[in-house]
Amino acid sequence: MKGIVFLGPPGAGKGTQAKKIVEKFGIPQISTGDMLREAVKEGTELGKKAKEFMDAGALVPDEVVIGIVRERLAKPDCEKGFILDGFPRTIPQAEALDEVVRELGKAINYVIALEVDDSELIERLSGRRTCRSCGAMYHVKFNPPAKEGVCDKCGGELFQRDDDREETIKNRLKTYKEQTAPLIDYYRERGNFYAIEASGDIDEIFSRIEAILNQ
Ligand code: ADP
Ligand code: AMP
Repeated sequence: MKGIVFLGPPGAGKGTQAKKIVEKFGIPQISTGDMLREAVKEGTELGKKAKEFMDAGALVPDEVVIGIVRERLAKPDCEKGFILDGFPRTIPQAEALDEVVRELGKAINYVIALEVDDSELIERLSGRRTCRSCGAMYHVKFNPPAKEGVCDKCGGELFQRDDDREETIKNRLKTYKEQTAPLIDYYRERGNFYAIEASGDIDEIFSRIEAILNQ
């Protein structure tokens, strides 16, 4: 069982590294951010509720995201493990996660915190591009596609997220510091916690993560 939680500020590379774990270990990435964006796009009740919080760089209410994760973790593809990317983001979410994994007979075996300086986060977020079709992640400078605006993997169109604008980025980093950073101590005290330096080459960072997961 590989139950993995990725902690780290927006732009730390959680999505980028999670996708590499999916490829290598065959366990699903559970990104609450992706699920919420999908709901916004589809215009569901959930999406309508979440949109204003996301646009402001604030967190969507705990009970909303906890409900999504509870349903998702119960699906059969999570049997061998899962990577939670962007959840939990508050102490009540972490407490609810403990309860959900207990109910489902699962476990959180690795909590991996990705550490990157603030100045680099801002540069990463403002240059981030995502494929509309397959979700692959790029950066205009650090990880550019072969052809501008086009996904290398599937030929899909690349777009910039609404919340990757400068003003919203600042709010998201503030929200992280106030509400999510306390989770580092929460998990550090409980074991299975690993903090890694997450700037530099994407593949080198992945090697550090692999070394932890192969322990
Ligand atoms: P998160 O999921 O933590 O918000 P992402 O994985 O979306 O972060 O990464 C944010 C941006 O930074 C993306 O544009 C991505 O291509 C880029 N990026 C990811 N890892 C690195 C790295 N090691 N060095 C430089 N840029 C990176
Ligand atoms: P992300 O894609 O992880 O950067 O998330 C984008 C946005 O979705 C965040 O800024 C929040 O508004 C919302 N969101 C994602 N995950 C959570 C969560 N676990 N708790 C509350 N809000 C979340």
